Amino acid sequence: MDYVKSTNCGYCHGKKREAQSWALESISKKMEGKGYSNNCSLSNGIVDEMSLKEYEDQIKDGWRRSGTYMYKPDLLRSCCRQYTIRTNYDMFVNNGHFTHNTRKTLRKFYNKFNNPSCGNSKSLLETYLTRDRGDDFYTVLLPNTFSMDKYELYKKYQIHVHNDEEDDVNEEGFWRFLCDDPFKEDVGPIDWLSINREWSSISLDNYKDDDKFENLKKLRGPIHECYIINGELAAISVLDILPDGISSVYFIWDPKHANLGLGTISALREIVMTQILNKSYYYLGFFIPDCSKMVYKGKYGGEIRNFTKMKTPKWVSLETAMKCESFKEGRFAVFDNEGKDVAEDMYGVDIKDNDKSLVIVNKPCLFPKPRVVPC
Ligand SMILES: [Zn+2]
Repeated sequence: MDYVKSTNCGYCHGKKREAQSWALESISKKMEGKGYSNNCSLSNGIVDEMSLKEYEDQIKDGWRRSGTYMYKPDLLRSCCRQYTIRTNYDMFVNNGHFTHNTRKTLRKFYNKFNNPSCGNSKSLLETYLTRDRGDDFYTVLLPNTFSMDKYELYKKYQIHVHNDEEDDVNEEGFWRFLCDDPFKEDVGPIDWLSINREWSSISLDNYKDDDKFENLKKLRGPIHECYIINGELAAISVLDILPDGISSVYFIWDPKHANLGLGTISALREIVMTQILNKSYYYLGFFIPDCSKMVYKGKYGGEIRNFTKMKTPKWVSLETAMKCESFKEGRFAVFDNEGKDVAEDMYGVDIKDNDKSLVIVNKPCLFPKPRVVPC
């Protein structure tokens, strides 16, 4: 396992005030005036082979994959704290996150298309299962293979939405990031034709019938869910279908559909998909409370991963976490059984202690040797 340091944070771009860039207040005080923190992660490097079950266990331990590259952020030594976040249909719907605004986005989206109507339905599941199947808008489940039309959409998205330079976007990068995976041995052959036949015939009356959707409900591994709007490829949701969860890898959409709220629509659809495929959780990647680009993940409710092997809970509801001021401000928090933040007790530093590992050797390379990495 390697420890990787980068001085380039893709979230705050090094623009955070120094005092706020540190994980804990005691570290802030100790490092006052000495420079910014690094953007650090543990890396397992390139993983050739891995089972979906192994990956799902690793996600629960704070890891993520980018293609075949596995990494886990070090929350003590990064300027932006990344917490693994997951939700599901019940946590989303029953805890008041299916708000008026979200319903409006959903209604507005489906009203654009000549898809079947579901009357005055208020349930997310009902809306999805009735209105998601039509000629103007539908989705197809495809393997995570490379094709030029997928790549062209990716390129357009990266340039127009993420302001990437045209020269920085290439076929190989797309393939490495969104088509390559370490699960090939584990997944085996998949009958995509039967899966899509079943996918297009699922409805409110039959979705619980596991026999009728035998192929679909056994679907596993990385997929590209392609959104077709008026006959054109309009978006791609890159997903990992895990034994007991669905993990969102990336979502690409055509900038010409910017007014459709496709990001929200895809998350809602995937929450329902988690329910339909009998999975327990929908993993949204990392939640960063003080990053405007990442905070949207909290609007689907759910829970965040807690950083401890102690007797404290492994997952803490977002509701509990958001009651903690330092978490909300982006500091590192670890929650005990009562929902109290104990991170300072566990990982705080003694301000008077003249510990060499906290001294800047070569600015901005701080924390040269990590002694403790929150697990
Ligand atoms: Zn940052």
